[in-house]
Amino acid sequence: MKYIGAHVSASGGVDNAPVNAHDIGAKAFALFTRNQRQWVSAPLKAENIRAFKANCEKYSFSPEYILPHDSYLINLGSPDAAMLAKSRNAFLDEMQRCEQLGLELLNFHPGSTLKQISDEDCMKLIADSINIALGNTKGVTAVIENTAGQGSNLGFEFEQLAFMIDHVEDKSRVGVCIDTCHSFAAGYDLSTDKGFDETFTHFAEVVGFNYLKGMHLNDAKKLLGSRVDRHESIGKGTLGLLPFKRIMHDPRFDDMPLILETPDETLWADEIKLLYSL
Ligand SMILES: [Zn+2]
Ligand SMILES: [Zn+2]
Repeated sequence: MKYIGAHVSASGGVDNAPVNAHDIGAKAFALFTRNQRQWVSAPLKAENIRAFKANCEKYSFSPEYILPHDSYLINLGSPDAAMLAKSRNAFLDEMQRCEQLGLELLNFHPGSTLKQISDEDCMKLIADSINIALGNTKGVTAVIENTAGQGSNLGFEFEQLAFMIDHVEDKSRVGVCIDTCHSFAAGYDLSTDKGFDETFTHFAEVVGFNYLKGMHLNDAKKLLGSRVDRHESIGKGTLGLLPFKRIMHDPRFDDMPLILETPDETLWADEIKLLYSL
């Protein structure tokens, strides 16, 4: 079964996210559990945690179909010691918030070299950061998102995802999320049947579908291999409908959160209907 949703707003309290997801006909959702543009956030309040769990129960959202996203400020591979420490603290806080909310997954962008260290050294720092967070939490899986490879962001090649997983000690609590827009921007041509087949055959060989914990369903504004991260509404961009039709018919994408991060949130309800109609 396919569990489609969107990255919904949690403004006014995390407990609003499941309500917002229900309102657009979602069967899954993503959220920020804290302000994604600030380093420090107030701890979650017990009443919000209770209400979040109650609303998830009420609208039948189980934790395996909820894919929280961490703050954009965090760089788990930062070459700067102070920034790395700050990032690791913030990431641990994100993991602990998931624990408190009874969530099982935390989706994040791996990190960037800032052109100051080698890709390999950066990926080893990222894996160490993951090891530290996993060592201090229970029950939450670290879900590495593939990136568009914009600037010095790593994780745009499947080989890089595999390298980081290799260096994580507890393989049972690490996974990946594949973003269709990021893949296309990174040079994986999901816009054709041949490209789609080759990309996911390659993914299966290099990373393995056992590590796939979720997908981000986004059309793209830029061309194949642009390395530019610009999402577009489903069917309106350079990817077109083909990859989404393929995903909807492919059991390898069953039973995981499939999350829209498309720019026009007024279209989400229609995009969800469109995807199910494919
Ligand atoms: Zn992301
Ligand atoms: Zn994404």
